[in-house]
Amino acid sequence: MGRPCVFLDRDGVINEKPPEHEYILSWEEFRLLPNISDWIRIFNAVDYLVIVLTNQRGVARGTLPVERLEEIHRNMIALLAAQGARIDDVLYCPHEEDSCNCRKPKPGLVEVARAKWDIDLARSLLIGDSSADEQLARATGIRFLLAENGHLVRR
Ligand SMILES: [Mg+2]
Ligand SMILES: [Zn+2]
Repeated sequence: MGRPCVFLDRDGVINEKPPEHEYILSWEEFRLLPNISDWIRIFNAVDYLVIVLTNQRGVARGTLPVERLEEIHRNMIALLAAQGARIDDVLYCPHEEDSCNCRKPKPGLVEVARAKWDIDLARSLLIGDSSADEQLARATGIRFLLAENGHLVRR
């Protein structure tokens, strides 16, 4: 039957969004948004999986070494864990636009997560701050909430 999951976008949901067309290139630039550890603790408490899905084409462009991206993610997981918030997995697309099946809004990251963790998408939720996140949720049958700088947008 599968488990429910909350899929979280990273930039703009977990951490402050970098300026347009820029990337978080090091841990020093990573600023956790204030409410996110509380949100994650609630999802942990009700036994939702918590999985981060993020586009990081700075890797394909050569500005972000994959080792540094993974270090940022290790530090993010550890910082949240120190606040009592557990992230189960982080999946990222390192590719350039139109060169893969996993750059959001393409469904590849959701498909990988579903197969790996046996997720029930119909009982799952995606929280993101971009139209790519919303399109992905719609295409994969996942409920969607729009976030902006650590708040949920009412509409
Ligand atoms: Mg975002
Ligand atoms: Zn990709």
